Amino acid sequence: MKNFVFNNGIAMPIIGYGTFKIEDMQAYQCVLDALEVGYRRIDTAAFYANEKGIGKALANSGMTRGQIFLTSKLWTDANTAQRVNAAVDKMLDSLKTDYLDLLLIHWPTPANLIVWQAMEKLVKAGKVLSIGVSNFKEHHLAELLLYCNIPPVLNQIELHPLFQQKELRQFCVDHNIIAEAWSPLMRGDALALRELQAIGNKYNKSAAQVILRYLIENNISIIPKTLSKARMQENINIFDFSLSDKDKLAIAALDSKQRQYRDPDSHGF
Ligand code: NDP
Repeated sequence: MKNFVFNNGIAMPIIGYGTFKIEDMQAYQCVLDALEVGYRRIDTAAFYANEKGIGKALANSGMTRGQIFLTSKLWTDANTAQRVNAAVDKMLDSLKTDYLDLLLIHWPTPANLIVWQAMEKLVKAGKVLSIGVSNFKEHHLAELLLYCNIPPVLNQIELHPLFQQKELRQFCVDHNIIAEAWSPLMRGDALALRELQAIGNKYNKSAAQVILRYLIENNISIIPKTLSKARMQENINIFDFSLSDKDKLAIAALDSKQRQYRDPDSHGF
């Protein structure tokens, strides 16, 4: 599978397997299925409470740790250096590993800079290889870039056909930060859009495959989630076609510029 290369030189597979709302027991089998299908990157978070199931799957997968790229996220209660350290130690224990490939701040809070400094120390200690953020808007990133010693490698944000975040994506490009789409399929709802189905028919692909292909053609990292092994396969089977410029423009035109989920400035955490 192709890779993105971060601003620190570390590579990350273009597609990851998202695990939001997959509980621990189920996460075990899902991650084993995802690895068997060909995913080599897993996206989890302290908030998802499924790191133990994922850790067990990784341990029983027959793969070496180095073959898998593992991302987790600090929840908003990890808002002091001590709490960040404790949260990461708990993650490593649950995931049965001694390092994370990527650690993200899940949502911005007033403690961003304190948390970031603690994350930088974890990089130096070798517990985390790369650090990034999630749900950061331009103003959160601008502040972080002003004060950080290690710049973020990635920003994981709400991004799908109805909310394409062009300005924030450009800000990320300008600062050498990979933009990553969460809920790329709009939790399944985007698949009902007739425009996407019609484009898919031209290539003999599903609406899900059209969206995921569109995102990677725009250099956006994707982490689709599904419980179904067949759909895991479907979502990764997007490297044998490319969208015409006309179809890409048609998908770009679906952008309503309306967030479907929480606004990071008023999420209430
Ligand atoms: P997605 O956009 O990935 O959609 C998942 C839904 O789409 C599931 O209900 C799934 O159903 C369905 N689906 C997936 N593939 C197909 C397909 N090929 N055909 C039909 N239906 C399909 O939503 P998520 O919210 O899960 O986002 C992806 C990941 O992003 C999360 O799992 C998580 O890792 C991350 N995330 C991060 C956030 C953040 O704040 N940083 C917030 C939200 C998500 P089924 O299982 O039945 O196939």
